[in-house]
Amino acid sequence: MFDLIIAGGEVVTPQGTAICDVAIAGETIAAVAAPGTFAAGSARRVIDAKGRIVMPGGIDPHVHCLWHLPLPDGTAMLTDGPAQVSRAALHGGTTTMIDFAAWTHDTNVQKTIEARDKDWVGNCCCDWSYHIMLRGDLPPGLLGELAEAIQAGYPTVKIFTTDITPSRRGRMVDFGDIWEVFKVLAKQGGLGVIHAEDNDIVMHMYDKLIREDRTIFHNMAEVHNQLSEDLSFRRVLRLAESVPGTALYMMHVSAGTGVAAIAEARAKGLPIYGETLHQYMLYNAEDYKRPNGQIYHTYPSLKTPADQKALWDGTLTGAINTVATDEICCTLKVKTVGSRIDDVTGGNAGAEPRLGVMFTEMVAKRGYSLSKYADLVSTNAARIMGLYPKKGAIAPGSDADIAILARGPARKLMKEDLHETDYSPWEGHEIHAWPAMTILRGKVVVEDGKFLGSPADGRYLKRKVAPEIIAGPAL
Ligand SMILES: [Zn+2]
Repeated sequence: MFDLIIAGGEVVTPQGTAICDVAIAGETIAAVAAPGTFAAGSARRVIDAKGRIVMPGGIDPHVHCLWHLPLPDGTAMLTDGPAQVSRAALHGGTTTMIDFAAWTHDTNVQKTIEARDKDWVGNCCCDWSYHIMLRGDLPPGLLGELAEAIQAGYPTVKIFTTDITPSRRGRMVDFGDIWEVFKVLAKQGGLGVIHAEDNDIVMHMYDKLIREDRTIFHNMAEVHNQLSEDLSFRRVLRLAESVPGTALYMMHVSAGTGVAAIAEARAKGLPIYGETLHQYMLYNAEDYKRPNGQIYHTYPSLKTPADQKALWDGTLTGAINTVATDEICCTLKVKTVGSRIDDVTGGNAGAEPRLGVMFTEMVAKRGYSLSKYADLVSTNAARIMGLYPKKGAIAPGSDADIAILARGPARKLMKEDLHETDYSPWEGHEIHAWPAMTILRGKVVVEDGKFLGSPADGRYLKRKVAPEIIAGPAL
């Protein structure tokens, strides 16, 4: 007896897309078979998915919940937490999020993870995991702790090569320390997840624009510019090349120069992967001039139409493997409180609309196959981050994390459709399909817009990066 059968949908499986029935027993997928294979009455519930798309639940590998957000007046606040963001994510068909556990100098890696668990355990409606985030000067003792953490199921390490803004000094890690971390990653089978910008160029441009009294945030793309991405990506990729076995995931690629640097490294056989954000693909620096233009911003910055094209091309050539959100959930008031190049808040509200928006842009508008689309919003993140095939696949033995999308006549997305906060950068965006049902490990958690999940449903995901991901550019 199965618990659920999803019958007759267009199912995205590792072998391709076909009309299939999916049988679920408990928390996992028991079988995927031709329509009608399973006898009537062989499941407690049969969900009719005819005419609908049945895909692996979305995976967002880059979110920040309950996150320290510096404000222009010098104070700071915490952004909304995992309960709220995960609920919205599930409404939008995303079933797994990867956030960050930020190490600080007064603690160790183990305690960093334990402290972050206090924010998350019992407070997340979907499954989740953390990247370990390092900042500032790294004490030598930290390297051993990182090695232990990688072995214990926390294999991804976030590093900044920039302080990002003049007020956030102490964030970047110098290249000597990055070099030592890479040696640990290579030896232990970890993965570096990198925010790469050239700090000298970025800080120079802050000084220059402040001197010239051109501080309005519309000029952000001049500060966090293509040259910065070019120089920093190449430097960090060369460093990785010097330590064989170093695999890197370049976060929020925003410029064509970043795409080119990743492509060159991959052409050498290096295990380098690229993430972009849906706002970088679909907005550019001109959008900063729209009313409340801050809502389109995250760091580094929106760029030009040519950069957008390079990001899209990267999804076809393999240099861009995932589309994430850099989720920061806050109100419109907070998101627009800063208006200078040096005080605009980063992050973006997008965990919920990501699947619907990218379906429209990839499948409906650009003719991507359903498989390619599912790779970019789910499966590739699972593969790179050490979650596959438990996550990111509709296959026997995988967790039954499923989004069922209903295609419909194109409509405009309204913020009232969404469950996250009081604004969305995606309001007014045309939508061609939307999740009608989301299933998390066999439990129907969203059905026709009704939320049936709970903050007790989510589970932490320990991870191990697969050897083929580290051996070379596997995707
Ligand atoms: Zn981020």
